[in-house]
Amino acid sequence: MSREINGIGVSRGIAIGRAHRLSPSELDFRQYQIDRKDVLHEVARLNNAFSLVRAELDALRADVAPAAPQEVRAFLDLHRLILDDALLSDAPRDLVRTRLINAEWALSIQIEEVCKEFEAIDDEYFASRTQDVRQVADRVLKALAGGRAATASVTKPADGEKLILVAHDLAPADMLMLRDRSDVSLAGFVTELGGPTSHTAILARSLGLPAVLGAGGARDQVQEHELVIVDADAGKLIINPDASELAEYRRRAKSEVDARIELRKLKGKIARTKDGIAVELLANIEAPEDAREALDAGADGIGLYRTEFLFMNRDELPDEDEQFEAYARVARSMKGKPVVIRTLDIGADKVLNDAARESLGLAKGAPTAESNPALGLRAIRYCLAYPELFLTQLRAILRASSVGTVRILVPMLAHVHEIEQALAFVARAKEQLKERKQKFDGRALVGGMIEVPGAALNLPAFVQRLKFLSLGTNDLIQYTLAIDRADSSVAHLYDHLHPAVLQLVSRTIKTGEKARAPVSVCGEMAGELELTELLLGMGLRQFSMHPSQILAVKERVLDTSRRSAMQLAARVLKQSDPIESRKMLERAAARGRLA
Ligand code: PEP
Ligand code: MG
Repeated sequence: MSREINGIGVSRGIAIGRAHRLSPSELDFRQYQIDRKDVLHEVARLNNAFSLVRAELDALRADVAPAAPQEVRAFLDLHRLILDDALLSDAPRDLVRTRLINAEWALSIQIEEVCKEFEAIDDEYFASRTQDVRQVADRVLKALAGGRAATASVTKPADGEKLILVAHDLAPADMLMLRDRSDVSLAGFVTELGGPTSHTAILARSLGLPAVLGAGGARDQVQEHELVIVDADAGKLIINPDASELAEYRRRAKSEVDARIELRKLKGKIARTKDGIAVELLANIEAPEDAREALDAGADGIGLYRTEFLFMNRDELPDEDEQFEAYARVARSMKGKPVVIRTLDIGADKVLNDAARESLGLAKGAPTAESNPALGLRAIRYCLAYPELFLTQLRAILRASSVGTVRILVPMLAHVHEIEQALAFVARAKEQLKERKQKFDGRALVGGMIEVPGAALNLPAFVQRLKFLSLGTNDLIQYTLAIDRADSSVAHLYDHLHPAVLQLVSRTIKTGEKARAPVSVCGEMAGELELTELLLGMGLRQFSMHPSQILAVKERVLDTSRRSAMQLAARVLKQSDPIESRKMLERAAARGRLA
């Protein structure tokens, strides 16, 4: 009989395969007192185990394919940082010496200490990092036991069959090791731990693997090699499906693959509505490497390059040359297509390392000590507070404008004086480059993000001063509805169909149109298929989204006519209840499918 376990679907798609249960991450190890004469031996065991894991992570890092998503490298770097942190590597040695206990015991005491400190911080981000600490420590414990990586036990299933991992927890490094093994075809995975913001979840999305996390009790309920289905769309694991379920899921999995193949055919097509309105489909990227994925999806350019990722997870800030190299790499690879580079949006949930903050003269932990970091020193506010940081970045972006079509985008503007100060900094950066006789495109356009309701309600000031606008709907929703984007307890209230949000989006598009200032949407709304027709109807002509969404949005554009989209937008904008708006969108989509 088939059984089901519910969890959280953290990526999309369906995977059908044979289960492989990974051994639990908690190792059964002995705890015992040691003689003083054995201290050196225990410390040496710890040192060896750390060296082994270090070598393992370094080897994985060196093998990451150049085309792999940026997160892959970031996770391995984070695990390497945790491994080298004195709290994890030095403290257990001291415990061995002072308490005369064996290496495993000392390490496990220290893991609990570190995790307790993280858990005391009431913050989802830190709670997720506890999982990273345990994953790293788990590798060291395994090395101490002379064990192999958990995934080494995975054996090739019968010919042609795919493998679904069922684990208590799965470290990103293990996921990579498995993916790289040519003898194992990993189709998806299920873990008992983990939530939507854990690194395991983010990596699953980047690698395009169907995954269900937080499926409590999964390992106990699944037999080794049992047939299972991971339905990441619905967030469930189906164990031992009956014949009709299996047939239905096979049909769905096949139609997903067919749909992806069909979509690839649209790559070279211009995104035009049925009545001939051309639309630009642009990509959001976080690192220069991502430009390849954007080109591969046929993007018309980069609509948002989030540069802050170049500044995060490191102790020294990137200097002007390093920044120039990164920005110029994107500009060159896009071969003349527009590249919108956003100035540093640090603050809120995106923070610099302590050492990097100290180099700016900031006390350790200062920004996170703010009671409301999302409303605090963030984005343009941060840049205006640290003029050298801002000027250095502006010079680097301007220099990159000499090798491609580069535009500058300033985030989180709310006040006219912030726009004016930002423009004055751009002018100053140009002067400095002229003095240095360095090349840049003097006509590089400067635009602003509309992501604060105060900006969306004062648009004339923006269109008079800026050459283009980009709607950051992720933040616009957060600030309009007073919902912290990072707080899962209020996530159910975050609704892009809230009438206030739709009014602000529509007004911005209309005002930009009248003033001939191009407007794009670069928040998640741009890649939501349920919204394509509505946004087209509001007059949007530039959509910027994760590259993986581009072809699906293109398909929607090709299937829509301007007339019907405008009618739909007019009806939805009259609604005061998002439930009604959603029904209207569903009916319109169904009509489109029948047409
Ligand atoms: C937004 O706020 O919609 C946006 C695109 O910026 P970010 O998600 O980086 O804040
Ligand atoms: Mg934003």
